[in-house]
Amino acid sequence: MPIPTELVGSLPRPMELQDAYEKYDQGQITWEDLQALQDKSAEDSIRRLEQTGETAVTDGEQRESSFATYPLTHTLAGTGLAPNLAGDGQFFAIFDDGHHRQLPRLTGGPFKYQTFASEFVEKNKKLTSHPVKQAVIAPSMLMLLYPLEDEIEGYSREQFLDDLVDECEKDIRKCFDAGAVRVSLDFTEGRLANKNDARNPWTGKDMLQSFIDLNNRVMDRFSAQERKNIGIHTCPGGDCDSVHSKEVPYEKLLNHMFKINAGYFLIQCASEEDRETVYRLCGENSRADADGVAQVCFMGVINPLSPDVESAEHVKNELVTAAKHIPVERLGATDDCGFSPFSRDVKPKHGSPDFARDVAMQKIANRIEGARLASEELGV
Ligand SMILES: [Zn+2]
Repeated sequence: MPIPTELVGSLPRPMELQDAYEKYDQGQITWEDLQALQDKSAEDSIRRLEQTGETAVTDGEQRESSFATYPLTHTLAGTGLAPNLAGDGQFFAIFDDGHHRQLPRLTGGPFKYQTFASEFVEKNKKLTSHPVKQAVIAPSMLMLLYPLEDEIEGYSREQFLDDLVDECEKDIRKCFDAGAVRVSLDFTEGRLANKNDARNPWTGKDMLQSFIDLNNRVMDRFSAQERKNIGIHTCPGGDCDSVHSKEVPYEKLLNHMFKINAGYFLIQCASEEDRETVYRLCGENSRADADGVAQVCFMGVINPLSPDVESAEHVKNELVTAAKHIPVERLGATDDCGFSPFSRDVKPKHGSPDFARDVAMQKIANRIEGARLASEELGV
């Protein structure tokens, strides 16, 4: 079988859409007005992805406040925030360029998703005859909604985690029911869990194992057959063309991450200096039998934070090198991250989000062509 390809999920939102999110926050336009523009950008994403030849298309998260907050709020500023939440939660990340992103804070129970990602799948299925994928947020990220130290009166941490696992399972299951062929969980907090950043207390709490255990509680709800199409995405962050945890030694994550019983992984690698070591670590740690499913390593061969377009030849060479360390039947190609996981991202290194959208499509097309060339060279 040729080397499969898959994108992580997000694409830059057109400036017109980013402005509309702001106008909605300011009360200048209605939720319906904003949704109309989201739908327009979503359809454009799908049409353009169809043209690249990507196996499974998606809307590029045009309808989401962010990859992590879509279940909870209409916008990053907190317009349309779900009940039992306040805006002033933990930082989920402080990025290298100094900007940060903040999660809401849980104020009481029960914890419920306001929006399930299946809403987007349903809309996207109506726009295309191609297979559709959907990214969802991992429970390990939403675990951080609960205060780090204190208990919420009347709603214990344990109760919260039980509810969270239920909601996450529902989120994934509803996507499949709505017709998605693949569902990947964003796990950007995995590498960040070893950062020990004094400005961001949870990153010094050694939480990686509890993240993995919680994610496996969700995986346990699915059969091996279902988990073939459930993935995990890891990266050192990717927002406003900046990262949050690239300095954390990768082996601290890769030696553990494959214990999650997912069927495939979307793994940042293109922006690493020593990529061959990453291929080797993935080859050594990924499992041919993870509770009944063989883990496929989709290696990042495209850096979405750089406007330089990787050539198909470059992609081919990377995959051929990767195949020295990872069995080719368990090797795939992806991008290092989504191209814009947050709804407000003007893509500073690109000059504009509209240009970044064009660049993203060229990069995706070259990834697909590079995977085809590598498959040819490797005889698969
Ligand atoms: Zn990412």
